[in-house]
Amino acid sequence: MIRRVIEKVQTLFTRKPRRPREPKRIPASEHHINQQLVPRSALRVCDTLQKAGFRAYIVGGAVRDLLLDVAPKDFDVATDATPEQVKQHFRRAIIIGRRFRLVHVMFGQETIEVSTFRALVNEERLTDQHGRVLADNAYGEQIEDAARRDFTINAMYYDPTTAEVIDYHDGVKDLRARRLRMIGDPEARYREDPVRMLRAVRFAAKLGFQIDEATREPIHRMGELIENVPAARLFDEMLKLLMSGHAVACITRLRAEGLHHGLLPLLDVILEQPAGERFVMLALSRTDERVRAGKSVSPGYLFATLLWHDVLVKWNARIAKGEHRIPALEKAIDETMDAQTEKLAIQRRFVSDMREIWGLQPRFERRTGKAPLRLLEHIRFRAGYDFLMLRAAADEVPAAFADWWTRFPHAGDEEREQMLREANENEPATAATRRRRRRRRGGGSSSADGEPRQTTT
Ligand code: ATP
Ligand code: MG
Repeated sequence: MIRRVIEKVQTLFTRKPRRPREPKRIPASEHHINQQLVPRSALRVCDTLQKAGFRAYIVGGAVRDLLLDVAPKDFDVATDATPEQVKQHFRRAIIIGRRFRLVHVMFGQETIEVSTFRALVNEERLTDQHGRVLADNAYGEQIEDAARRDFTINAMYYDPTTAEVIDYHDGVKDLRARRLRMIGDPEARYREDPVRMLRAVRFAAKLGFQIDEATREPIHRMGELIENVPAARLFDEMLKLLMSGHAVACITRLRAEGLHHGLLPLLDVILEQPAGERFVMLALSRTDERVRAGKSVSPGYLFATLLWHDVLVKWNARIAKGEHRIPALEKAIDETMDAQTEKLAIQRRFVSDMREIWGLQPRFERRTGKAPLRLLEHIRFRAGYDFLMLRAAADEVPAAFADWWTRFPHAGDEEREQMLREANENEPATAATRRRRRRRRGGGSSSADGEPRQTTT
């Protein structure tokens, strides 16, 4: 009896792996991909590699989008050529990445990312103590490459020469059922790379797909693993999520899955304050509108909106303690940024945009002398103004005040004079102008253009 059990266990472990499943091959007559949506650059990469004797396919999100008849935003190519072999065949190509090497092939402004088929299981794969994959440079077969992609709808290959779609994991079926399904054991796949949880949420929100129950279920239990992801990677993923054109749906879904904590440390707090939440959601829905209309969105502006309420709370607290408005704002900004950058590697160039947009806000309050004209000439006026409009929409500043700033840039000289007079007569003075008036009455110093000098503490 015992021997039989032992034998059975032995056969279990020695059994040859199942024969690899043959992929489904879907001809053009069935998938109806519009070849016009494939740019020449992607065709050239596949064609050049195929003519050199390699296999080369468009892969991943681009195939998914082509099947949905949506123009993909970027194109990736998968091949059995090594990065060095790929590089040899193109004039402008660089090998990037150390832990996951791939080739960027450049055509004018476009870049095609070419990756070599990765092996599924290998010793060269480095993981951390939580099982997160750190490096993966062992090359393998297409079937293995398909199995290590995240979702079935992201694991299809398109051969532009034969116009055939190669599908190992029933991606087409899931696409038709509008279902997001992880390849393999979802729990193991999230452990390998916790960012896949955020990707699940992003794709479901963006495509309006249901997350398959087995794929969805582990997320609420495993969300904590996201804390081990390096800040820079998390920042990239947050940016993709926020600029997807479906940020509101993504945030709503992140909350539903219990994933919104810890992504932006202070965003947690903000989303729990009614005023902050209103502002953030309004900002995100405006961003979504812009993205969907094909307009540009600046990440600096976006992060400035997300963290504004944190700055605001800290700024107001300092003013209540008697600090001057401008230095109080600067200190509030420093505090917010210190807390954020610990976890989230907001890139330097975005940080300076954020500081400028916030720093401009009190300057809108100064509607005396030449201050408004100088503000109009500020390089970030437009961003500062848009931000002010958002604050007005969230009832944070009076509508009449926002309206004044909408009219002022377009007014003629005479009208501007009139507007300045009205602004000073009719509107309740802000704390800053009250202070200045008091100082002036008391013989406080003034600069040459009649503007009070900035007082710093
Ligand atoms: P997007 O529309 O956002 O570009 P995408 O699916 O193309 O979506 P990318 O981040 O560009 O996403 O990745 C390209 C492909 O690489 C994916 O479709 C998927 O096959 C694979 N991939 C990307 N990230 C992962 C991951 N974390 N785990 C497994 N496979 C991944
Ligand atoms: Mg992509």
